[in-house]
Amino acid sequence: MQDNAAVLSKLNLYAKLSELHDENPFKYKSFITAAFNLKKIKEPFNDLDENSLSAVPGVGKSVLEAIRNILSTGSFKALDACVEKTPIGVVDLLNIKGLGPKKVKIIWEEIGIDNVSDLLDACRQNRLVETKGFGLKTQAEIIKSIEFSFSAKGNWHYARLLDLCNAFKADLKSTFTGFQVEFSGDFRRCMPTMNHLICVTTIDLLELVEYLEAQETEVEVNDDEISFLFEGQIPFTMICTDSLTFNRVLFETTGNSEHLKLIGYQQEDSLSFTSEEDFYKKKELPFIIPEQREGLNELEYNIIDQHFIEYGQLKGVLHNHTNYSDGLNTLKEMADYAKSQNYQYLGVCDHSKSAGYARGLDEDRVFQQMHEIDELNAKMSPFKIFKGIESDILSDGSLDYSDDVLSKFDFIVASVHSNLTMSEDKANERLLKAIENPYTTILGHPTGRLLLMRSGYPIDHRRIIDACAANGVVIELNAHPYRLDIDWKWIQYAQTKGVKISINPDAHEKMGYHDMYFGTLAARKGGLLTKNTLNSLNLQEFEDFLSKRRSLKNI
Ligand SMILES: [Zn+2]
Ligand SMILES: [Zn+2]
Repeated sequence: MQDNAAVLSKLNLYAKLSELHDENPFKYKSFITAAFNLKKIKEPFNDLDENSLSAVPGVGKSVLEAIRNILSTGSFKALDACVEKTPIGVVDLLNIKGLGPKKVKIIWEEIGIDNVSDLLDACRQNRLVETKGFGLKTQAEIIKSIEFSFSAKGNWHYARLLDLCNAFKADLKSTFTGFQVEFSGDFRRCMPTMNHLICVTTIDLLELVEYLEAQETEVEVNDDEISFLFEGQIPFTMICTDSLTFNRVLFETTGNSEHLKLIGYQQEDSLSFTSEEDFYKKKELPFIIPEQREGLNELEYNIIDQHFIEYGQLKGVLHNHTNYSDGLNTLKEMADYAKSQNYQYLGVCDHSKSAGYARGLDEDRVFQQMHEIDELNAKMSPFKIFKGIESDILSDGSLDYSDDVLSKFDFIVASVHSNLTMSEDKANERLLKAIENPYTTILGHPTGRLLLMRSGYPIDHRRIIDACAANGVVIELNAHPYRLDIDWKWIQYAQTKGVKISINPDAHEKMGYHDMYFGTLAARKGGLLTKNTLNSLNLQEFEDFLSKRRSLKNI
């Protein structure tokens, strides 16, 4: 039996869908009015006779019939007909707060987007800004609303939690004095997404409970643990301890159980635990940085004198978009900001010509941009802008311009943006052909995944990495916190094959450069060494890298 809420949601869905499909406005407006007024009724609709339902404003013959049908079968004919001609992803779009049928119609029919994850991707690439009826503000609201719907499913991106966690710590610091507090678990291990937070602190449990309750947070106390919903939705456990055991508890809750097993952590170790560094030393093990404590092969690749990449070691910023294609800032603004952030070079990679949705550059625009780069370089030296392009990998694996045009770029990021639904074989063939193209310098976001939203096309990572090794192609670690693609788990394999990784922000506005912070965290988690990070090269080294590659490839 359908309850009232289910009936109302079907009536509303029908109203939205029939507006989307340009049906009779009087009809769908009567459904909206009816649903609005029916909401005030507390008794189950099923217990009401026809006369009392008809007395509700807006409930005419067709609404009444619809209600009767929903109650008995769960749907009604007109709704079924509408659903039939609407892709399921478009129905999802109608559920996004702030998107009415009119806007969804434009998104679907004019921009060509028919599902939520593609819409989020498009927003991130500023593709909505120039469409009539949309603007930066609407775009930002849509992103927020989509993010909210994902977190409602119980998972959060690291990047989204970072600010909340820092604010929480700062708030504790302004309230309490002389205490330790540290986030632990998945957060300290820099997992790209997580479904709960753990934090260890020396603040007195009762005082902490009082502090939380004063903020109207409902808490549950279990021994030395306080659990509550952070920001009203994120499961959060705080473990209260004293300063003597703080380090031990932090250690025990950071590494996952496989890591603790791998390093042979036992009950007796806990008795003499002083610090993390000390513990690994006593066990004659290399120190494992928190983000790597996953119980995989971290003991094998942590050998003496390893230097994992650090954010401050990145000297250049590659793969960025300007307003030549779908970026927000001008080429000059992007360059000035990169220079002001002490980067030695910038790689501009706007979209290529077949990326019509992103105003991809035809040959004339490419040459126009190259000319502007030359002019800026003359003024900004020793800072240097490299001429790049994010060339679409077409369905058959070829790149998007003739060899003659391709040869004029300093470097090329080759990425898949279209026809993402493909079998693993097809995806492999497509990528392999692009990797074998002598003009491909970097393979961009290798799987096309969007964390928590879209899993990406399936690829045989080993085959792809092997091909990159054979062809001297660098693999991108796309640093956007929704992508982090290539996945950190494949970095070790790439390194053993001698493949370099480039931590690229894929910035669509100048502030996007800062996403390289998240890329660096993922890179460190995967154990990426500084010497294998392409954009840790200084300007001279990067130029040498490019020219050596050119002569090797004979291009
Ligand atoms: Zn891309
Ligand atoms: Zn891009």
